[in-house]
Amino acid sequence: GVSIRGVSKSFGAVEVLNDISLGIERGEFIVFLGASGCGKSTLLRMIAGLETISGGEIWIGGRRVDQLTPGQRGVSMVFQSYALYPHMSVRENLAFGLVNIRTPKAEIETRISAAAKMLEMEHLLERKPAQLSGGQRQRVAIGRAIVREPDVFLFDEPLSNLDAGLRTRTRFELAQLHERLGATMVFVTHDQIEAMTLATRIVLLNKGRVEQVGAPMEIYSRPSTRYVAQFVGSPP
Ligand code: ATP
Ligand code: MG
Repeated sequence: GVSIRGVSKSFGAVEVLNDISLGIERGEFIVFLGASGCGKSTLLRMIAGLETISGGEIWIGGRRVDQLTPGQRGVSMVFQSYALYPHMSVRENLAFGLVNIRTPKAEIETRISAAAKMLEMEHLLERKPAQLSGGQRQRVAIGRAIVREPDVFLFDEPLSNLDAGLRTRTRFELAQLHERLGATMVFVTHDQIEAMTLATRIVLLNKGRVEQVGAPMEIYSRPSTRYVAQFVGSPP
């Protein structure tokens, strides 16, 4: 699991996260929900080891994040902007991170085939990102995380660039993926519908602080503050 212990973050004099504590169990689907600028991406990036921690500690699988190399962290992040390599084919994009950590070639092929099948993109493997739709690019970005076989998937608003229909479909696929892999997932969004349908637990953030943590129905039917009630649209 992941353990976030009294974490804070400042950029210069501006504090954007304040004393965040949260334990994430193996296999959970955690959603960080909150308004723009509340610190969701910053917190996710800190779990990924992409951002320094100003105060407190983050532990993954019994070790401190800042003492692990990227390969040891066992996390894969999927970005809103996909972050694919434009000059590489889909297959090469999927293989890239694995070549870096010297995975045997046959093993790379096996993992790519399995991920392509799971995401129904076997027919896209030889294309370049420019030859794909937005939804297809997002599947490649998700596929790239899958082939690394991480213990923890980190998603930063992966659906926000998709149209409404595709967003709903991809949301179902992510739920299925979670069921099939049993991996821990941490998902950032400002969309309460996404949070309600995907999360085992929602962490509602407000201005860098945890406002409430709970299962979707708990947050919806028993909001602990007026802010939470308004944000998730609880009945009065
Ligand atoms: P959104 O929903 O718009 O993506 P967010 O909740 O992900 O918002 P963050 O990106 O974590 O918000 O940003 C939190 C705060 O930290 C914002 O006020 C932002 O301006 C600030 N911030 C983020 N990165 C930096 C940085 N590198 N330097 C200075 N301030 C930053
Ligand atoms: Mg963000």
